[in-house]
Amino acid sequence: MMLGYNVENIRENFPVLSKPIIYFDSACMSLKPKQVIAAILRYYEEFPACAGRSAHTFAKQVELEIAKARNEVKKLIHAQKDKEIIFTRNTTEGINLICNTLQLQKGDSVILTDKEHNSNLIPWLKKGIQVKIVPSNKDNTFNLEEFQNLFDKSVKLVSMVHVSNLDGVENPIKEISKIAHEHNAKVLVDGAQSVPSQEINVKKLGMDFLAFSGHKMLGPTGTGVLYGKEEELEKLDQFMVGCETVRDSTYTTYTKEFLPHRFEAGLQDYAGIMGLQEAARFLRRIGLKKIQKHEIMLNKVMTETLTHPSIELIGPVDPTLRSGIFSFNIKGMSPHEVSKILDTAKGIMTRSGAHCVHSWFNKHNLEGSCRASLYLYNTPQEVNIFCEEVQKLIHLT
Ligand code: PMP
Repeated sequence: MMLGYNVENIRENFPVLSKPIIYFDSACMSLKPKQVIAAILRYYEEFPACAGRSAHTFAKQVELEIAKARNEVKKLIHAQKDKEIIFTRNTTEGINLICNTLQLQKGDSVILTDKEHNSNLIPWLKKGIQVKIVPSNKDNTFNLEEFQNLFDKSVKLVSMVHVSNLDGVENPIKEISKIAHEHNAKVLVDGAQSVPSQEINVKKLGMDFLAFSGHKMLGPTGTGVLYGKEEELEKLDQFMVGCETVRDSTYTTYTKEFLPHRFEAGLQDYAGIMGLQEAARFLRRIGLKKIQKHEIMLNKVMTETLTHPSIELIGPVDPTLRSGIFSFNIKGMSPHEVSKILDTAKGIMTRSGAHCVHSWFNKHNLEGSCRASLYLYNTPQEVNIFCEEVQKLIHLT
């Protein structure tokens, strides 16, 4: 099998991989390289102060690092300007920010797919905004025709997952953005699964907003990003306000801060943001195209080896359409049972359950699935061990 890079060299950067584990749960949370951990430590040991307030040496050092991190993230997604990058805590916060600040009126609607993570469904439901749901094709791929049929004058936003955490299927964001814009609707993309594993060019894809999480792309927990086109961010209302979000205030008035700080309320997770900067660097150093190829190559082997009447795969059969995700059920076994046995037998960590896409599982009358998600540090040997263990379970049923 031809690997695009030396995966053993890559693995040496991940301290936790010295343990006897097979980590196939990166769609939930990726492992962290030592460079990310070192950046967090460096902040606390060398200049643990706040940015944007004081004028002393430490404060200036923090400001410089945060500015560098913003620039690094901008490069990762090929945004135009640093001020289009807003630091959040995660994807969920980014989506909630848009949901609460886009000025939607009564009667307006938002188009979603039938495979959205709760993070891109519940905020709209809670706000009482009308949602229109695009039904997927039979194999769970995106149905462009159904999507187009949903447009009417009420649609003000299309909010969609880029790569599904349920089955790894990618939605055609470039076409989706084009069609949405022809109908004067804005586009918000949930990039939680796509940003860690593929080259993202926000300009080419054409979306107005993109939300993603640091913890799925080698970064620290509690870090995330909301990208927005400058002119679109300028039109938004503010979300959480207080410290840092205003330039001046009296007892009755305040003036908004400039972008991006207008949306970054309160003291930020400086250590986390510095770790995120290292994560973005690490990904760019390997190359996102190579990472995507690596995941698909491993998924091909997994899919070919595990094609069997007892295995019910979620999503299309073709592994090239499912990125690094192999989501499945074994006939006659609960997904939790499968996941627990794999962990106990060989330290294989997968995720079982509804993956926060309860709506899809309810629609399909399924309890959930067992999901193996592959990432840049996984190896063909690990895939072989996983396949052997799953095959043993098939023969038991
Ligand atoms: N969207 C998708 C597609 C996801 O996979 C996830 C995480 N499982 C989220 C949103 C939510 O991410 P977070 O919990 O980091 O906000």
